[in-house]
Amino acid sequence: MNLPILWTQQNQGSALEQEQRQYSQIGVSNSEVSALTCERAWLFGYHPQLKLTPKSHGVALTRGLLGHKVLEIFYLHIKDGTEYSDAVNVAMEYLNSLAIKAYQEFDMDKLDMIKHLESILVMYFEHYEADVQNWEILEVEAFHLLEWSGQAGVYLPMRLDLTIYQKSGKFKGETSPVDHKFTNDFWNSYKLRLNSQLPLYIRSLRGARFKNKNATVVRRSIVNQIRTRSMKNPYPHDIFRRSFIEANDEGMEKVFENHLKSALKIERLKRMPVKEAYEATTAAWGSSSCQFCFFKEICATDLEGGNTDMAVIADYAKSTYGYPTMEELQSER
Ligand code: SF4
Repeated sequence: MNLPILWTQQNQGSALEQEQRQYSQIGVSNSEVSALTCERAWLFGYHPQLKLTPKSHGVALTRGLLGHKVLEIFYLHIKDGTEYSDAVNVAMEYLNSLAIKAYQEFDMDKLDMIKHLESILVMYFEHYEADVQNWEILEVEAFHLLEWSGQAGVYLPMRLDLTIYQKSGKFKGETSPVDHKFTNDFWNSYKLRLNSQLPLYIRSLRGARFKNKNATVVRRSIVNQIRTRSMKNPYPHDIFRRSFIEANDEGMEKVFENHLKSALKIERLKRMPVKEAYEATTAAWGSSSCQFCFFKEICATDLEGGNTDMAVIADYAKSTYGYPTMEELQSER
């Protein structure tokens, strides 16, 4: 086994990190559980001693991340009482600053992507101007958590793009999680029905309390789809769709229990030193996931018995993404 240097002596983590691996509660997010379709991909991306993330994410993911950031800036300003047009301007200025940077760096592909995203978001802000009349913005990019009774070792942290209270309309009085999806094409019905993230969001919000609100009524989630495919003179309905997904209590329970099964596997792997976790995981070589996997170069080199150090050093960084501890999340609420 040719374990790269980054996986062994030099990457054992601080004494504190090692101690935390042993004793504190382990957070297992929905993305981690989804990554477990290939245990080896999970190991590369989520084991505390690796947490590898590609230095370059590719156009689609970068566009999605930027789009989320623009919406975050916009809805935060709306939440804070900024006028609609001013909130739009601040959000678009952020995107424009990135366009200038891409131009200065002669990164024309990125500049083209940002310009396309800009045209989509300009339409978004025109199309959804009524949001401010219909929605009260309760939270933007807020963390929540779910726990399982009798399972003190794991918890489920989640970060919701947006939480709104419906001030008017058909669902007046309801609180809903809103999940932004920048997508090439609108999701088909199975993608919506077989989603595990939305039921977990609903369940977590049902336990949340918001200032100046009575009991939180959460009956549905909203998938805020924004199509990024290039189209000639599109109409708003070609680009924007909000899918309202009604909560199903039985389904929600199944998703929650299913998550626990994976979370317990992940907890065990996270508490192991990386070398041991490597031995304990299997790779889904030859699966349909491989061609889209961020880690295919490391994985192929490892399979061929080569030295993966160069690929790790050249193409990956340690991910800084994380979530608060269970204690921090509990004390916030
Ligand atoms: S390339 Fe395939 S086997 Fe390797 S980590 Fe990725 S999904 Fe798993």
